[in-house]
Amino acid sequence: MSGPRPVRAPRGTELSALGWQQEAALRMLQNNLDPEVAEHPDKLVVYGGTGKAARDWRSFDAMVRTLRTLKQDETMLVQSGRPVGVMQTHEWAPRVLIANSNLVGDWANWEEFRRLEALGLTMYGQMTAGSWIYIGTQGILQGTYETFSAVAAKKFNGTLAGTITLTAGLGGMGGAQPLAVTMNDGVAICIDVDPRAIERRIEHRYLDVKADNLRHALELAVEARDARRPLSIGLLGNAAELLPQMLAEGAPIDIVTDQTSAHDPLAYLPVGVDFDDMASYAAKDPAGFTTRARESMAKHVEAMVGFMDAGAEVFDYGNSIRGEAQLAGYDRAFAFPGFVPAYIRPLFCEGKGPFRWAALSGEASDIAKTDKAILDLFPENESLHRWIKMAGERVHFQGLPARICWLGYGERDKAGERFNDMVASGELAAPLAIGRDHLDCGSVASPYRETEAMLDGSDAIADWPLLNAMVNVASGASWVSLHHGGGVGMGRSIHAGQVTVADGTALAGEKIRRVLTNDPGMGVIRHVDAGYDIAESVADERGVRVPMRES
Ligand code: NAD
Repeated sequence: MSGPRPVRAPRGTELSALGWQQEAALRMLQNNLDPEVAEHPDKLVVYGGTGKAARDWRSFDAMVRTLRTLKQDETMLVQSGRPVGVMQTHEWAPRVLIANSNLVGDWANWEEFRRLEALGLTMYGQMTAGSWIYIGTQGILQGTYETFSAVAAKKFNGTLAGTITLTAGLGGMGGAQPLAVTMNDGVAICIDVDPRAIERRIEHRYLDVKADNLRHALELAVEARDARRPLSIGLLGNAAELLPQMLAEGAPIDIVTDQTSAHDPLAYLPVGVDFDDMASYAAKDPAGFTTRARESMAKHVEAMVGFMDAGAEVFDYGNSIRGEAQLAGYDRAFAFPGFVPAYIRPLFCEGKGPFRWAALSGEASDIAKTDKAILDLFPENESLHRWIKMAGERVHFQGLPARICWLGYGERDKAGERFNDMVASGELAAPLAIGRDHLDCGSVASPYRETEAMLDGSDAIADWPLLNAMVNVASGASWVSLHHGGGVGMGRSIHAGQVTVADGTALAGEKIRRVLTNDPGMGVIRHVDAGYDIAESVADERGVRVPMRES
């Protein structure tokens, strides 16, 4: 029987599949489980609590085997991390179709999900874990950087210099916070209960130093703040204990947020439980653990509200901690906003979101060349230039070299077509996998996060991600995924993803042009429909057809 083992994607131009589309899916599946990339590869867990790339090792082996023999007119179907069929389709069809963690509405809760998971019938796919386009902590870095820039612009005259941010969670995604704050010239105190998470972020240069204790963390922070010197500080401890303590002591905090895995109460450590006992306690008594985790989250959120009342800028960073605190009976849980309505929605209206690509060659020089292409393509976009330069200097690659940058409607297709030309001309050593996060402008319904506080009240309408997946299938994406529960947990989100391979062929060019136009186009039409002026202007200027606006 197959079991845990180290997995690493092959590099170079030699194919072990029958074409680059299949090879790309194979390498990106393997890359998600590379120990450099995944948080717990032995358990097939990539990031985000228990977000997995495959249901079990047998399913992983079967997917690898199938992708190696899959023809150009065939499609592999994946049901929650297990390959369940191969169907004859055609060359414009995706090579892989993925549905992860979906449950019928009335059954869409953690209890039922875990019952089915224990029976071996499903898995939690998070967003890019089960859809094979996770690129390590960089994947969230630019979004986090943009969010903190927006905080700086809104409240601190455009810079975080001279401010202290307090947050928790240094996991796969949350680990981007310290670097995003220091890239904005601020100071960050980042709490985590797992010493390994702190070490890993220091090793990958996302985090600068580790404090000995709370007192030491505050001393380091205040000294750096006063010198207007960027610094990120890791602090070992439980956020539900340390935040109330810091609030009570009047710690000089300017910004508060959180990225612990609060979306899954079994991944949030309750106060009074040792980190070493967390897994066994959660497995033995999930109901008791959940109650205690929610009580702790209520204390955590109460302290965040306390900091807000004391004048700090406070926001939920998309992990459902307000919802969990409310379930524990804390009635001011939603006193502070989520980051999307507070800072990101105007970008979504322009079809902007986390566009990303990975070099299947394994060569860092391929990414350097694509960085240069992005700079050439968008000479007028200053913040994009700043980001690409900083990323080139400071981002440590995990697994296959990759890059992320937020691009909008009319931009992603340009970049994709240029990349495909670079593959065709031999400028790049091998093809690229071009995809994005499910956290995008038109691909997700998530009322506590991406669609919180929509202008027309349409927060929970989930037709949009379904249309998004269907339009990407119809446009020629290489693989398309439709998930439930990512980011914010069971019952709280439905979202879709796509990856399209630039293999240098004319056919790939045609597919890329359609997918990378229609995919962000979903963001524009979704926000036009909800009544956002910016989206209407973008639709008018860039020629996005919206039938209800045509007479
Ligand atoms: P992860 O599971 O890799 O890391 C979570 C970290 O929280 C772990 O290191 C864990 O030790 C720590 N932790 C748990 N309980 C704690 C406590 N009581 N005190 C301090 N630390 C504690 O998860 P991740 O991939 O980093 O994602 C974190 C959260 O952010 C998830 O809920 C995820 O859905 C959400 N998320 C948000 C965005 C966004 O753009 N805002 C994007 C992706 C994920």
